[in-house]
Amino acid sequence: MDETIFENVFLAGMLVATIIRSYYGAQFQRKEITQTKKEHPMVIIGMALWGIALLLPLISIFSSWLSSADYQLPAPLSMMGAVIFIAGLWLLWRSHVDLAKNFSPSLFIRNNHSLITNGIYKRIRHPMYLSFFLWALGQALLIQNWIAGPLGLVAFYQIYLFRVDREEQQLIEYFGDEYREYQKKTGRLFPKAYE
Ligand code: SAH
Repeated sequence: MDETIFENVFLAGMLVATIIRSYYGAQFQRKEITQTKKEHPMVIIGMALWGIALLLPLISIFSSWLSSADYQLPAPLSMMGAVIFIAGLWLLWRSHVDLAKNFSPSLFIRNNHSLITNGIYKRIRHPMYLSFFLWALGQALLIQNWIAGPLGLVAFYQIYLFRVDREEQQLIEYFGDEYREYQKKTGRLFPKAYE
């Protein structure tokens, strides 16, 4: 199957993600920050890697510079990649809608921050990070190149590993038992299995 279809899915996804991020990102204002926590340096490196991981597919699609690192996947795997990727985009949008005014690009507590425990946040605490994971997994299956494909997975793992504990710690400091209770009922990326 012609892999340009999968590359086009990726490019369309980049456009949609940019629109979602710009629209909801624009609603975040620095003057609304009431509390901050320092990011782990590994998160900052991870974010730089994530940025590179998003740009490399453009080089791989529009030039032949990376072509020596191309790989070829069976079409059904890439189709699965497209489904995973689109699911990730949907989740990015849903988590922005549900998190609404409580979103911020870093470890910030905003004015009148309220704890969201409904919608997509009812069963899982980090749907937006799950959406990044689905994007990265989808990207590795859509962009069939060892340099431009899987780097997003590495970046995601690094950010996730060093960000989530701090973020939850900050929410516990701010919301106390309300957040601890919420943790008991939910999973981080996937719903808690019922015991
Ligand atoms: N980790 C979440 C949110 C990412 S945006 C997710 O993956 O969906 C990061 C901001 O969201 C942080 O400033 C954090 O304080 C805030 N946040 C995370 N979970 C929240 C919740 N359940 N309710 C309100 N704010 C939340």
